[in-house]
This record gives sequence, structure tokens and C-alpha cells, in this order.
Amino acid sequence: MIIMKPAAKASEIQAVISRIGSAGLRADVSKGEGQTVIGIIGDESRVDFDRLRAMRGVESARHIQAPYKLMTKEYLQEDSISIDANGIRVGGNEMVYIAGPCSVESYDQLARIAAQVKDAGAQVLRGGTFKPRTSVHSFQGLGELGLKHLQKVGNDLGMATITEVRSESHAELVASYVDILQIGMRNMYNQDLLEAVARQNKPILFKRGNSAQIQEFLSYGQYIIAAGNRQIMLCERGILPLGGSFEPETRNTLDLAAIPVLNSKTPFPVIADPSHATGRKDLILPMSMAAVAAGAKGLIIEVHDRPEEALSDGPQALLPSQLKELIRKCDEIHELVRRSD
Ligand code: PEP
Ligand code: MN
Repeated sequence: MIIMKPAAKASEIQAVISRIGSAGLRADVSKGEGQTVIGIIGDESRVDFDRLRAMRGVESARHIQAPYKLMTKEYLQEDSISIDANGIRVGGNEMVYIAGPCSVESYDQLARIAAQVKDAGAQVLRGGTFKPRTSVHSFQGLGELGLKHLQKVGNDLGMATITEVRSESHAELVASYVDILQIGMRNMYNQDLLEAVARQNKPILFKRGNSAQIQEFLSYGQYIIAAGNRQIMLCERGILPLGGSFEPETRNTLDLAAIPVLNSKTPFPVIADPSHATGRKDLILPMSMAAVAAGAKGLIIEVHDRPEEALSDGPQALLPSQLKELIRKCDEIHELVRRSD
């Protein structure tokens, strides 16, 4: 990373960018309040740091050791980043609750559930529209019709909305309807999708792949930064090591320790997803409380008022009344965590 002097001229900044470009590398430029910081994207051993340091307007130039350099607090020069999702602040002083059905099934289903999750205290409405499903025989989502329902219901209730972008070819379409774009765990490794979603310039909920180590997760996150988007929420949604977990009680294993680890390395807010992590409605409350105690800034919870009729993930859906109870308890825990900070 290269830190420019506060008084550096535009031409001096440009000269550094050109020097990086002439080495066949890309520059990630952020003009902060005081100074401009330039990150090198590519093999930094191809530039001579001593020569960079000697350039006009350069204050300092240093290597960041971590392989996920662009995601670190050091590079981003922030201890924490809060994100504005259509008026909802994620990573600020308040917990953020994202809730709704796994899938948007119809306008009526969504409108009914949304009113209840809003009443329970959720600020963001979730609902899958282009569903990633293991089987071609399973419900695949309503597609654009589902996006229309999400937009209408979100607007009517004054809630921000989130849905998954499953394919690069849908990125622009999805971004034209919803406030937060989700990258699902199956797609954590999809570079083209990450870039296409990042370019929409909207906040992103970036899910950890269920077999991805933290280092890999953060390394892939760099594709979002390199595409010019820093509005990232990191989502811990449970891990299932390749070959399968030794513990069949839960669908995946919520990696609680990942939450403070991520908080120590990056400034991005961490959102926990106990619904997909456990796959069991009876475990969602205790795992939510634990995640908040561990430092999560938000939760994403699947809710259905008729779980037995749900077209996807019924067994892990909470009833709206259970969400209300969960939010009350998690707000209390969050308050305790904040007071002890
Ligand atoms: C979802 O949020 O509905 C979902 C499919 O999640 P994941 O990508 O974590 O499996
Ligand atoms: Mn689901």
C-alpha cells in the first residue's frame, strides 16, 4: 500500500498510478478525508518499493503481509466500516435483523410474512428469488416476479430488501429491484459473479463457502474491493468440511469463533446466519444469542408463518412470534457487549 501525503497533488497521485500500471499491475485508489491511499493489485514484487517511496507526494509505502491485503483494517485504514442500505445502518450501534422467508413464494405469502417480521423488529426483508438448489426437482424461485414482489412489499412497509444473485447475468436485474445483493455460499468462489455484483455499487452480503477457510473467504472478498465496492457484510453461515461433518445433528456447524476472528482482521460487519448453519428451528435462538455475544453486528433469520407449507427450508423457519422473542433477547445481549467494549 502507498500512502500519499495529505498535500499530494493530483498529478503526483497519477504518477504513482502510472508507475504501478507500467509494471503491469492495477491500482486501487481510495481518496480518504485526509490522504489518498493506493493499493497494488497483482504481484507486488514487480514494483520497486524504494523507488515508489522516493516519488513526489508519497508519504510511505509498505507491504501488507496478509494474503487478503485489501480486506485488512491496515489497508482500509478503518477499525470498523458501517454500511447504509437504503437508510438502514449495518455495523453501527444498533443490531441489524434481516428476516423473511427462504423463498418468495407469492405476493400474498411475502406481504403476510413481511408485515409480521417488521412488527417483530426486523429492519431488512429477505426472500430468495433465484434459488440455488441442490436438485433440479426442487422449487427454483419465482425469478423476476419474486423481485417485483420484494420491491413492492419492501416499499410499502419501508423495509430494506435483500435477495441472492445466483448468476452474473442477473446482477443488473436484481440490483434494479433490491437494496442488498447476497452472494450465496455456493458462489463464494465465483470470481466473475463477485465482480459483476460488486459493480452494481450496492451493499453486498458475502457468504462464506461452507468448506472455505477464513483466509480463503477473505481472499475472495478482495475481488469485490478490486471491483471498486467496499460495502461488504461478511456472513458466517456454517461450515461443512469437504467429505462431510462428523456431526449429523446439525445441517452445518456454526463457526462461532470465525466471528471474532473476522472482527480482528477486517473492519466489515459480520452477520451470522444460524438458520442455514443449524437447519433446525430449535437451535436458532441459542445460536443467535451466541453469535451476538461473539460480536456479530447482525443476524439473517428465515421466518415463515406456515412452515409446513414452505417451498424451501421449512424445517429451519421460525414463526414470527419466535423472531420477536429472539430480537428482544439478542438486543439485550448486544447492549451488554457494547457496554463492555
Ligand atoms: C439462503 O440464504 O437462502 C441460502 C441459500 O443460503 P446459503 O447460500 O448460505 O446456503
Ligand atoms: Mn434457505
